[in-house]
Amino acid sequence: MTATSAPSTESTSDSERVRRPRRPALSPSRASDFKQCPLLYRFRAVDRLPEKASPAQVRGTVVHSVLERLFALPRAERVPDRAHELVAPSWAAVREERPELAELFADEQAAADWLATSGALIDRYFALEDPRRLEPEACELLVETELESGLLLRGYVDRLDVAPTGEIRVVDYKTGAAPREIGEAKALFQMKFYALVLWRLRGTVPRQLRLMYLTDGQALTYAPDEAELVRFERTLDAIWQAILRAGRSGDFRPNPSRLCDWCSHKPLCPAFDGTPPEYPGWPEPDPGEESALDRAD
Ligand code: SF4
Repeated sequence: MTATSAPSTESTSDSERVRRPRRPALSPSRASDFKQCPLLYRFRAVDRLPEKASPAQVRGTVVHSVLERLFALPRAERVPDRAHELVAPSWAAVREERPELAELFADEQAAADWLATSGALIDRYFALEDPRRLEPEACELLVETELESGLLLRGYVDRLDVAPTGEIRVVDYKTGAAPREIGEAKALFQMKFYALVLWRLRGTVPRQLRLMYLTDGQALTYAPDEAELVRFERTLDAIWQAILRAGRSGDFRPNPSRLCDWCSHKPLCPAFDGTPPEYPGWPEPDPGEESALDRAD
């Protein structure tokens, strides 16, 4: 895989997907949205209201790209200096895909000052592990599987490490600005989502889920077990049924919490005296889509 390649894909039915139009799927980001606040899910997945990216989100996207490019290099070159050199081309690639992101900064100097702050995240990454000792099977892997219930799950795994013995480790880099204690439950939910998808795809429960918090230089590891993933599958089915019920009726209720401070749609939220737009109906074709910015939480 090269740094500029499209993300890898692993799916139970790649050939079928080519023939059939993409159908609604649940991603970890959208499932978390619905759990957190059904109205937030509606704004993002149904109304698809634009959200202004924050500099922290964009920096996260750049750092994810740097780490993906780093693992495309020969092992011996995966050193801090090389990683820092990858920041500028990664930002250029992100900006090419989303030119409007350049408008977040007053001028080139402001953008350069902001870009320099990614260096600290990269240094914290190197304090947590030595990438010269790792050979991931894939980075930015798009995984997709269908549960027995017919629910389609889709998401991106930041990195997949597979030991010669076949043991799987799922790695996720966390680069967001929100305090870690707020995001931790959400992050574990996301990791269980990937563990379930990989278990269903490969028949092996991942041995370890590893969250690397690059804003505070800490890592959290977690070992899922089969019984837990079976329960989690039921949870996802229940969330999807609740989404479909709300989708039919248009009844997506606000659920105010501390996380409202990070919600772009407060001005439209009845919990904050706003008025949502008229319900547009259930979307086609894919309310489960998540963006690179979602993945850079
Ligand atoms: S402001 Fe809070 S309650 Fe309202 S939509 Fe956003 S997350 Fe939900």
